[in-house]
Amino acid sequence: MESNSTENWDREVDVVVIGSGTGQMAAVRCADAGLSALVVEKEKTLGGTTSISGGGIWIPNNYRMQEEGIEDSLEEALEYMKRATFGQSETELMQAYLDNCNDMVSYARELGIEWFIIPMGAFPDYYEAFPGAKTYGRPMLPTTKEPFEGDGAFVGGNLLTKALEKAGRERGVEYLTETPARRLIVDDQGAVTGLMVESGGQEVRIRARKGVVMATGGFSRNEKMVKAFLRAPIYYPNPPAGDTGDGQHMGMAIGADLRNMNESWGWPVFWDPDTENPIPAYAPELGKPGSIVVNKKGQRFFDEAGPYARIIRSFQHFDTDTLEYSNVPAFVIVDSIYRMNYDLAQYQPKMKLPRWISQADTLADLATKLGIDTDGLEETVRNFNEYAKAGKDPEWHRGDSAFDQQTGGDSSRGLANSCLSPLSEPPYYGVAIWPGVLGTKGGLRINQKGQVVNVWDEVIPGLYAVGNCNGSVMGAGYPGGGSTIGSGLTFSYIAANEMRGN
Ligand SMILES: Cc1cc2nc3c(=O)[nH]c(=O)nc-3n(C[C@H](O)[C@H](O)[C@H](O)COP(=O)(O)OP(=O)(O)OC[C@H]3O[C@@H](n4cnc5c(N)ncnc54)[C@H](O)[C@@H]3O)c2cc1C
Repeated sequence: MESNSTENWDREVDVVVIGSGTGQMAAVRCADAGLSALVVEKEKTLGGTTSISGGGIWIPNNYRMQEEGIEDSLEEALEYMKRATFGQSETELMQAYLDNCNDMVSYARELGIEWFIIPMGAFPDYYEAFPGAKTYGRPMLPTTKEPFEGDGAFVGGNLLTKALEKAGRERGVEYLTETPARRLIVDDQGAVTGLMVESGGQEVRIRARKGVVMATGGFSRNEKMVKAFLRAPIYYPNPPAGDTGDGQHMGMAIGADLRNMNESWGWPVFWDPDTENPIPAYAPELGKPGSIVVNKKGQRFFDEAGPYARIIRSFQHFDTDTLEYSNVPAFVIVDSIYRMNYDLAQYQPKMKLPRWISQADTLADLATKLGIDTDGLEETVRNFNEYAKAGKDPEWHRGDSAFDQQTGGDSSRGLANSCLSPLSEPPYYGVAIWPGVLGTKGGLRINQKGQVVNVWDEVIPGLYAVGNCNGSVMGAGYPGGGSTIGSGLTFSYIAANEMRGN
């Protein structure tokens, strides 16, 4: 009971941000208005998953699009988002996102973070057929006006979190690493007044006069939560070990409502058993001509050149006959022409392949090595080779969309379809792929101000949640590259504005 008392504080600040990924934006923005801001991070280093990411953000009608004369509007973006979140988001959250994401980007520029549109050749919106989708312009990447001194290694997410930290330190934000938050402290009215953190083995009680921003990320590394909440199994998650759902737990403990807990930001991965690292397996490899992805029956089950956010869904198929997730694991199969031209599991063409990638002189032998049905694989390759000759994939429409052509395709080879060529030249190579994640996206239910709402539908005063520890504005979809960091930064910006009173 003592640790929940609203007296005997060890220290006081205006704002505490728990977690140093996208939540850093909230700390910097608060400090800019003269509020004292503290970031507590449980790991030794700052940055979380954000710092190992590509750092891309999805910002409709952004200032770069306007400068380049690319047409977009918030109305189109809202229409698109309503479809692209598959009934699992809320209009007020989507509207808040769209109303603020450009302002957030402009504010980031004031902090010295510039943005450029991901060049043509990558990342059209992920559901191109939906009204309001754009094939170019919304996904942006960060850069800095001034390079970090003597260091060219900062790019993408690493650059983003470093730049935010620099801006924070310049504005007086305090950062405490190896300081896990353990629980929220609430008053008699249920308002959050502070939190208890652990520092050097001691409990430290910190009062937060304006608010606590939960920014602790997802729960992909918490096996119990993954089993309890996600709609289907995931394997080999990419986020760091600290992605354990602490914020969801701290919120649940004080009656916060949850939303979107069945969802994750999925992508397929290879698993390297030697380094024990997941390696992303996505369109720039899978969609190149001369590759297919099959299940144990030897059948294709998605468009290999499509966006990872779409294809990952097909790994969740449950076979009611065999009573298993029949597409897990799946297998990438390529021939030697593919291998001469393209990466496989990020091994460049001339590199020696590791032992966990199988090789055989016939498709039948490769199927046996990988545990795939031989007849099924041979039939699939026969059909696929016919599609390649015709330049048309009647089953999965590979190569039809702008995403396929720009991201997976190879237009330099004069093929009838830039994503299709036959698998005809031995040796053949094959390797398993698994449904992995960039993070989960279910958590504390928030309103349009980023405030956490309790199970009785009331705002919990003093508590905000941003990034993967809230029920994502993106619902069950992934509208475009950068949707996750874009929404994390934007809701951090929104929450900070609320605490600043503007
Ligand atoms: C390889 C890779 C590439 C990616 N590329 C992109 C991309 O280009 N664009 C995009 O939008 N998304 C991308 N993603 C996904 C994206 O990185 C994440 O979804 C996003 O960064 C999550 O941000 P966050 O702030 O919610 O969590 P995080 O960045 O993980 O930050 C949460 C922090 O909270 C800390 N924490 C947890 N519990 C506590 C506690 N109790 N006390 C104190 N601290 C705590 C954690 O240690 C962590 O540092 C990528 C992911 C990966 C793995």
